[in-house]
Amino acid sequence: MKEEQAVKHFLSFSDFFVCKDREKEAKYRQWKRHAVFMHIAVVSFITGMLYLIYTSVCIYVFPKDAINTMIQLHLGLIALPLFLISLFAYQEKHYSAVIIAMMAAPVVAAAGYHYLLNLAGWNSIYLPEVYLIIIWTFAISGLPLLQGLISASVILFFSLMMGLFFSELSPDERILHTFWLSVSYILGFIGAFLLERHHKINFFQHQILEKLASTDTLTGLYNRTQFREFLQTEIEKAEESSYMFGLMMIDIDFFKEVNDLHGHQKGDEILKGITDLLSQNIRQTDTIIRWGGEEFMVICRTTYKDRLIRFANKLRNIVATHLFRDVGIRTISIGATCFTIGDTIDTLLGRVDDALHHAKHEGRNRVIYFS
Ligand code: GH3
Ligand code: MG
Ligand code: MG
Repeated sequence: MKEEQAVKHFLSFSDFFVCKDREKEAKYRQWKRHAVFMHIAVVSFITGMLYLIYTSVCIYVFPKDAINTMIQLHLGLIALPLFLISLFAYQEKHYSAVIIAMMAAPVVAAAGYHYLLNLAGWNSIYLPEVYLIIIWTFAISGLPLLQGLISASVILFFSLMMGLFFSELSPDERILHTFWLSVSYILGFIGAFLLERHHKINFFQHQILEKLASTDTLTGLYNRTQFREFLQTEIEKAEESSYMFGLMMIDIDFFKEVNDLHGHQKGDEILKGITDLLSQNIRQTDTIIRWGGEEFMVICRTTYKDRLIRFANKLRNIVATHLFRDVGIRTISIGATCFTIGDTIDTLLGRVDDALHHAKHEGRNRVIYFS
């Protein structure tokens, strides 16, 4: 439900072009970049090829004295840059530069077309290339809606001015020109709008799936898969600098008893209750994960042995002094350890697991630290 509302908001007019939630907007852009970079590479390559074919056809119809200019313009200013864009777009890291080039390409093509028409002495009302360029910019190029809108608007304005004030078109021809320009602009915009909307919906579905894949539905905490990624990142950070982090493995004591005495549903409730207590009391920089069953892991960033033990005892104490409805007092045992050079995910997990076993063995409701 929350997700549905978020989709609605993201698709609403006020947030459609640029979402006010900066973090979401940045995530969407990152996602979109990944979703369209290949599209842009293919479209620019195909358009470049079309210009090659178009140029060879134009050779037969263009006035002799304008042929050279036409070839130079089509090949040098349009086809070649499009091939270059295609080459760069193939690598996602060039995305920003490619978007700027993709915005410029149709403007150059439209301006070149007007220039050629003037040169060839054709004050033609048939400007299909410009009409098609507008639609291409909006709905085919792969440009984000806002960038497509900017490019297409420049072309629209420029072509309108050319048709209305700098050509020898008759009044009827001017009306026709304006009509076709408007139609291609409106249809192109509708196309781009629908595509952008489709992208945004896809993005949200992707976000929801990503969340489902990385979190646990009962507690809402990150799951084991995500935990390994987090831990790997911490290990890499710690290997590169003097940065220290700690790890805690938490297990609820005699939890089976809760299920046996009060039922599974009550067990779930207590599990959620303990999750809340832990989540509310860890630092913002720490991450809590549901390791499985009634076991949790906490990654404690920037810490050292004594501090970690103090912190673990604080958490243990918070749970042990909380009165759970119908169930009373429940306790947790904690195994703790800190990263040391040479540690891998498996050595850290092994150590923290051993420490937890010890805590259980020594009577539960305690913290055991292993170096
Ligand atoms: P101790 O850890 O102190 O040795 O005893 P325990 O009873 O907690 O240990 P054990 O690991 O044997 O049992 C854990 C129990 O947790 C078994 C299982 O039924 C229960 N459990 C695991 N996941 C869930 C869950 O999602 N919901 C509920 N209600 N119970 C769960
Ligand atoms: Mg247990
Ligand atoms: Mg257990």
